[in-house]
Amino acid sequence: MRIGVGYDSHRLVAGRKLILGGVGIPFSRGLLGHSDGDVLCHAIIDAVIGALGIGDIGRHFPDSDPRWKDASSLEMLKYIVELAHANGYEVTWIDSIVMAEKPKLAPYMESMKETIAKACIAPGSISIKAKTDEGMGFVGREEGMAAYAVCLLRKRS
Ligand code: MG
Repeated sequence: MRIGVGYDSHRLVAGRKLILGGVGIPFSRGLLGHSDGDVLCHAIIDAVIGALGIGDIGRHFPDSDPRWKDASSLEMLKYIVELAHANGYEVTWIDSIVMAEKPKLAPYMESMKETIAKACIAPGSISIKAKTDEGMGFVGREEGMAAYAVCLLRKRS
């Protein structure tokens, strides 16, 4: 088995759609990024890359690569899970945390889990939690959002 830890953060800006876990969430601002800025998918990708021991997210998805410009991060996650399969591993479990002061994410949790599972992992293999930072730091000041993830890979038999 292999374990990986992942982290990501993105700035909140006007004029962008807010996408988390592949799901569009109604909000006044969205996350800035080369792709759709889906901070949760990026943290999970980071964790899978870490478990595989194959560098970091910038190596696999460079900002200079037009293939991933405005890309769906769900597609990026799918790509990296397929890379895990090609290396002989399957994703057994993902746990994650989205740090966001607003909006309330509870209504979208099931949809995010289903969307990620449908894209690339076995149903029921992912946990997503949401937290605020109680007004502290960049998350608390609503300057951005962050996400953490851990992932467990198992060698396929
Ligand atoms: Mg990112």
